[in-house]
Amino acid sequence: MLGLGTVGRGTFDVLRRNQDVIRRRAGRGIEIAMIGVRDLARARAQVGNAIHVTDRLEEVVRHPDIDIVVELIGGTEPARELVLEAIAHDKHVVTANKALLALHGNEIFDAARRMGVMVAFEAAVGGGIPIIKALREGLTANRIEWIAGIINGTSNFILSRMRDTGAGFGAALAQAQALGYAEADPRFDINGTDAAHKITILAAIAFGVPIRFEAAHIEGIDQLAAEDIGYAEQLGYRIKLLGITRRTASGVELRVHPTLVPTQRLLANVEGAMNAVLVKGDAVGTTLYYGPGAGAEPTASAVVADLVDVTRMHTADPEDRVPHLAFQADSLEPLPWLGIEDTQTSYYFRMRVADQPGVLADIARILADFRISIDALFQRAPAEGEHQADVILLTHKALERDVNAALGRIEALHSVLAPVIRIRQEALA
Ligand code: NAP
Repeated sequence: MLGLGTVGRGTFDVLRRNQDVIRRRAGRGIEIAMIGVRDLARARAQVGNAIHVTDRLEEVVRHPDIDIVVELIGGTEPARELVLEAIAHDKHVVTANKALLALHGNEIFDAARRMGVMVAFEAAVGGGIPIIKALREGLTANRIEWIAGIINGTSNFILSRMRDTGAGFGAALAQAQALGYAEADPRFDINGTDAAHKITILAAIAFGVPIRFEAAHIEGIDQLAAEDIGYAEQLGYRIKLLGITRRTASGVELRVHPTLVPTQRLLANVEGAMNAVLVKGDAVGTTLYYGPGAGAEPTASAVVADLVDVTRMHTADPEDRVPHLAFQADSLEPLPWLGIEDTQTSYYFRMRVADQPGVLADIARILADFRISIDALFQRAPAEGEHQADVILLTHKALERDVNAALGRIEALHSVLAPVIRIRQEALA
């Protein structure tokens, strides 16, 4: 095992505590032979002297007695080099590292295929939720149409806090950090990068395309205002950070952004640090996978499941194993990726306007010019002594390119006093 942090420690504990059921399921025992870490003294204090602990991680990935390397150090380097080195030394790999796979997955899976070894990564998406297994095996009969998921627990926790307490983004983030949900450096969680890593991996498995993180459009929750959460609620919606991928006739959408979800949808009611992934298959319809998306033992649950799978399948002919990305490697299709401008969704707009006659008529005319039709509209009346009002609009589906052009014209109106806030909306039906 490489790394003995949150997930490493959880994996160590679960393997030890449940060794009897794991042995009965796997058909043999799974034993941690060596652990590679930076801080030897701390690791020894945690695992005792029975397991060899080293700070030379290359020793682990090259050791002739080791069958499976579990990579739990995170980040792209040296994780990438170590994983490739392990593969080159004929070892199977289990990893929880979504950043690594989103950025270097094609290279890693190619290397693994050439060597005839497995790279298993259930823990990389959705923590303890077996979403990779569901997509690769359980839904294998289906053409997947789309996936939409709450796949970053930290940002979901912050959004839930903002809604429950009316707190602003900064205060909700501070609460998340104080409670241990957000890391000291939470940038990838709140700016959407972590969710984008995960939806990139899911898109490849769902549609049989090579992994391409650069195709993702990424927005986080750091720009969200508490008032938008409140207005959304009044209109019957919750704002969730969703990772969305959809196969359309013209290409594949891959995007992460705050999204208005109708309150009656199950996904809108996934609160706190929980994760949930909705998958639409042509045969099965819509299925939902819900559970803890992070944490030591939930993530260890997925890591150990992979260990058991690899243990059972390691003697099988590589041709008979489930392909890494669910589709046979020689049948991956390089489908075109759609840019965000070519995406069609419905929208929520909030416009701060001067409280004077004719403003709404001007806005409605510009939207009509760009074929954007209004679904609902309400105005928050100015407070006493104020001369500006908030206009909230929901639209029917429109092309993002048209929306950009329309908002450019609207923002040029003298009566529109601030940049228009825009949040996309998904019906998820
Ligand atoms: P973590 O708590 O920061 O642990 C990382 C461990 O790796 C630490 O023991 C660290 O040692 C060690 N490490 C890092 N770089 C190293 C290096 N160059 N050489 C030797 N040791 C090194 O991280 P984590 O939360 O367990 O996450 C591990 C992986 O699981 C990441 O890919 C993460 O994205 C993924 N994951 C985590 C969760 C979760 O809930 N935490 C959920 C799903 C997936 P030091 O402490 O000495 O630096």
